[in-house]
Amino acid sequence: MASSPFIIVAIDGGAASGKSSSSRTLSERFHLLHVDTGSFYRAVTAELLRRAIPAGDLEAVRRALAEITFGTRVQGRSAQMEIGGRVAGEEIRSREVNGHVSHFAAIPEVRTALLAYQRGQADVARAQQFRGLVMEGRDIGSVIFPDADFRFFLHADPEERARRRANEGQQDSIAERDRLDSSRKTAPLACPAGAVSIDSTHLDLPAVVDVMGKLIAAKLAP
Ligand code: C5P
Repeated sequence: MASSPFIIVAIDGGAASGKSSSSRTLSERFHLLHVDTGSFYRAVTAELLRRAIPAGDLEAVRRALAEITFGTRVQGRSAQMEIGGRVAGEEIRSREVNGHVSHFAAIPEVRTALLAYQRGQADVARAQQFRGLVMEGRDIGSVIFPDADFRFFLHADPEERARRRANEGQQDSIAERDRLDSSRKTAPLACPAGAVSIDSTHLDLPAVVDVMGKLIAAKLAP
């Protein structure tokens, strides 16, 4: 395994477009560290809310970011963000975080604070003997790893995505988050040029993973 090439797979797309399920499956199939960058933005949002800092108070956001220390704990195949030595719990999926995360994620200072941290996940993956990493988010193929070996962009109709979230029992305003994520100035959600675009509206998870897995396996084949 040590001699095989280290690969980076970037998967971007809107909320409930199928990123998490396909990344998790690919991480198992190819022994890749799974990095869910949405969970990083969520953990930072939960921390800022815990400190009662509103997204509009840029000075307070800056001060808090300067104080916060980030770490990574690998649990199974998944990279979990530690803030002050603690991994955030289920609160990062709360209605409150759902409602605030895109506002904090639109702040350039927040994105800058997470840029090197996200790129550093490749070192974590190497240190833990993974064959590479699969990172999901909104700007992975455009900003974080524009030279990734594989860049995928997932789409799905808004009605289908809302149905998926409801099936998960989550209260999540995905249309509003997508609107904010796509319209922000810094690193907006958009399919980067050259990425493989997949519409998952009428595809189930195995079919989506099949498309991605075949491309990856073809490159990895001797
Ligand atoms: O992926 P998930 O829906 O959990 O992401 C939560 C939010 O985090 C997104 O709506 C977006 O505002 C932000 N995010 C981002 N850039 C990323 C990943 C997530 O701005 N790479």
